[in-house]
Amino acid sequence: PKRQGHSIRKGHKNYELMLNLQLGIRHSVGRPAPATSLELKPSAFDTNEKLWTKFPTKGSKHTPPHQSCDFKWKDYCPLVFRTLRKLFKVDPADYMLSICGNDALRELSSPGKSGSFFYLTNDDKYMIKTMKKAEVKVLKRMLPAYYSHVQAFENTLLTSFFGLHCVKLTGHAQRKVRFVIMGNLLCTEVPIHRRFDLKGSSHGRITDKPESEIEATTTLKDLDLNFIFRLQNLWFQEFCRQVERDCDFLEHERIMDYSLLVGLHFRGNSTKAANQGSNSVGTSPRTTSDMGLLFHPSGETIKLGLNMSARVEQTVRSFETQLVGEPTGERYNVILFFGMIDILQDYDISKKLEHTYKSFQYDSTSISAVDPKQYSKRFRDFMFKIFLDDN
Ligand code: ATP
Ligand code: CA
Ligand code: CA
Repeated sequence: PKRQGHSIRKGHKNYELMLNLQLGIRHSVGRPAPATSLELKPSAFDTNEKLWTKFPTKGSKHTPPHQSCDFKWKDYCPLVFRTLRKLFKVDPADYMLSICGNDALRELSSPGKSGSFFYLTNDDKYMIKTMKKAEVKVLKRMLPAYYSHVQAFENTLLTSFFGLHCVKLTGHAQRKVRFVIMGNLLCTEVPIHRRFDLKGSSHGRITDKPESEIEATTTLKDLDLNFIFRLQNLWFQEFCRQVERDCDFLEHERIMDYSLLVGLHFRGNSTKAANQGSNSVGTSPRTTSDMGLLFHPSGETIKLGLNMSARVEQTVRSFETQLVGEPTGERYNVILFFGMIDILQDYDISKKLEHTYKSFQYDSTSISAVDPKQYSKRFRDFMFKIFLDDN
């Protein structure tokens, strides 16, 4: 399958930044640390300490000599993230290898509108996103609550965060670049044929690509959605419960603008479904044999979002702004992958302004920027319309 993004090699404008990130990660993760307990002291969440590690090119007592420019490195709440990695069952050596191994990271061509850059590790396991200062502030603020939430709910759909870092370039360019390292939700054994970024809002929620350019790596949006998802009963119930809990959490943290990212793998011969409906695709579909890697809802673990066997039903919209189309009865076996992403946008002044401004022109509940309570209500209502009990 075609790989997403472009490798960052020598000569790439972000090559040195990548080296800095890798040096920093190796330093932070590779450092011997005391055994971590899942019970963290409040001081672990303290973000006031101004601890920068200097990485001079020629090396220092604590840092190796390197090929990049001089820079400084900051690791936010290292103990909390170390413990989160443990909770998410990430092995430190594997983590370091994924990010710092010889194979370069790949840069994705601007998947979002916010101006953040995205990098994928070569093994596809981790996604690195550059962040605005305001987003770092939000993550620092919500970290204690996030930590208890993911600890309490194994099936949470919230993005898993593994590290928060800052690189300060010290030369003439006094630039700061902030990164968050998160799990790639769509790192899968089977190919993803379709992906949707869903919010439950209609304004601007359609892909800007012409139909002929839509492919498996294109992120489609609410108005492109031509399916409803049918989950087996136990999974459906757990899904509903978890969406409620995660939305309550985000609402309480005054977060908005998040999405449910859904990846679809069509099983067996049903790949043709990916190419039907509102977005027909010119390229011939890949065929995949059924892979026997499914959890069964009757078993002990109900792990949401991870290769969940489900069915999708084709829908057709009767008018352009309708969010949920009419079911056609045509159903396909799929493996579903999903989770909630982009959870660091605070309901701040700028969003309030955007809301006021947009309300003049549009129906105010259809646009993306509403307050966190309205946002979460609209989000859940939508999810409970497109996810159904399969009986
Ligand atoms: P905007 O604020 O304009 O939506 P953004 O820069 O904040 O953009 P995100 O919404 O976080 O970007 O992500 C953009 C796209 O990148 C998503 O639609 C999704 O396709 C992909 N993506 C983001 N986070 C993940 C993740 N954890 N796993 C897999 N894919 C992701
Ligand atoms: Ca987004
Ligand atoms: Ca965003």
